[in-house]
Amino acid sequence: MSEPNVPRSIAIVGGGCSGTLVAVQLLRQARSPLRVLLFERMTDVGRGVAYGTENHEHRLNVPAARMGALPDDIGHFQRWVAARAGTPGYPAAVEPGDFLPRWIFGEYLRAMLVEARTAAAPGVGYEEIKGEVIDLETETGAVRLRCGDGRAFSADRVVLALGNLPGEYPIRRPLPIYHSQRYVHVPWRAGALAGIPPESDVLIVGAGLTAVDIVLELQSAGHRGTVHALSRRGLLPQVHRPAPAYRPFLEAENPPATILGLFRRIRAEVRSAQAAGVDWRPVLDAIRGCTPALWAALSWEERGRFMRHVRPFWEGHRHRLAPVVAGKIEALRAAGRLYFYAGRLEKMTELSDGVEARFRLRRHPTWQTVKVAKIINCTGPRSDYSKYQHPLLINLLARGLIDHDPLALGIDATPAGEVLVQGGPAGWLFTLGAPLKGVLWECTAVPEIRAQAKALAGRLLEL
Ligand SMILES: Cc1cc2nc3c(=O)[nH]c(=O)nc-3n(C[C@H](O)[C@H](O)[C@H](O)COP(=O)(O)OP(=O)(O)OC[C@H]3O[C@@H](n4cnc5c(N)ncnc54)[C@H](O)[C@@H]3O)c2cc1C
Repeated sequence: MSEPNVPRSIAIVGGGCSGTLVAVQLLRQARSPLRVLLFERMTDVGRGVAYGTENHEHRLNVPAARMGALPDDIGHFQRWVAARAGTPGYPAAVEPGDFLPRWIFGEYLRAMLVEARTAAAPGVGYEEIKGEVIDLETETGAVRLRCGDGRAFSADRVVLALGNLPGEYPIRRPLPIYHSQRYVHVPWRAGALAGIPPESDVLIVGAGLTAVDIVLELQSAGHRGTVHALSRRGLLPQVHRPAPAYRPFLEAENPPATILGLFRRIRAEVRSAQAAGVDWRPVLDAIRGCTPALWAALSWEERGRFMRHVRPFWEGHRHRLAPVVAGKIEALRAAGRLYFYAGRLEKMTELSDGVEARFRLRRHPTWQTVKVAKIINCTGPRSDYSKYQHPLLINLLARGLIDHDPLALGIDATPAGEVLVQGGPAGWLFTLGAPLKGVLWECTAVPEIRAQAKALAGRLLEL
């Protein structure tokens, strides 16, 4: 859309890992004048939800040796940390299998951006805009990005790097408790755990990686009460165990067409690996490289089946706990300070001195009631894009500039991230990371994001 001799401009909405890596790749790859605009509404650019934590107990769930931000140099992060070993906050040494504190990865992403800016070709510039983009308009030949505070900016192309949406409400109807200080809907917001007396009890809804983070955060804040963690199935994430890589066993060229066929194949492979003394973990990890191809081979109906029946088990096996974290959780459990329940939350009643939560235990005729100081929602990212709560997404949908995929897991797009509107490419609007979940399924962790960012930047510069 831009005029000859006027630098092209690419706006990135969202400055988490995805947006930052697209900016890094654009700055590294651009050879002719370009303006990169990066919009972030909340934290420092580079951190996003996962790496914005200041708590040193919050660990990466991928070993250091595999967290490099560049797809052609995955050991880069480990070397970067090793070069800083022993400086305040950094470990004295770093091994390939170490699960490092997450804030270090945020520092790393920020450093990557500074380095890419410094080394960018002449005429390739970068601007950071603190603000929330709430709307895009296309009438004027370029795209106009409108911020919540009234500012407006123009760009030729826009990348939506929005990350995950906040989780579902644990009881899906409007309740007075949702307006109370005793209920926390977004657990990673600053001050989410403020005002919890050290001796009081807490209820966490969810039992995934976010719930584990919150348990650790409570402990490091000196909490001494009991933590109750309630989830539908009471399943905790599995634990990482070091093991050599397993050979790929599913061919991307001839993938099973049904979810049943796929999981029979995986189970058979796990059984034969176990018979040979190999753990299930590397077998599952061997699927990762071809997950998008496996996912693409399934019809939307089969993908829906996966969501209904397999997803909770898959998530717990795929997104695992660092062993050091699992050890801390186990110790709290053994000390009777942490309980996991399988059940469904039915009622939350605010009292003058706390909140009473009632839940029905799974496959059990009885109710359980706990009285706690706070209820913290850790149900994981919302997986239903049809119930947008995000001003930008609401406006883009209303303008017909985006659509959600048939399962409403994210934005409808090509596997390369080109947004599709009524089945056709928008041509100027792109996305990566979590919004591609319906299209790729495996797309929200660093190993996938770094590859998407590089390929997307290349494509944007070609257009
Ligand atoms: C607690 C947690 C731990 C994790 N640990 C790991 C790990 O160890 N290893 C790993 O590989 N992956 C991990 N992940 C996966 C993680 O999702 C990715 O690694 C990555 O951080 C995702 O980055 P993102 O930029 O796509 O999303 P986000 O981090 O969610 O960033 C999106 C950003 O967009 C901004 N934004 C959204 N809308 C707008 C708007 N309209 N205007 C302006 N800004 C906007 C948000 O404020 C946010 O900062 C973890 C995830 C979580 C939640």
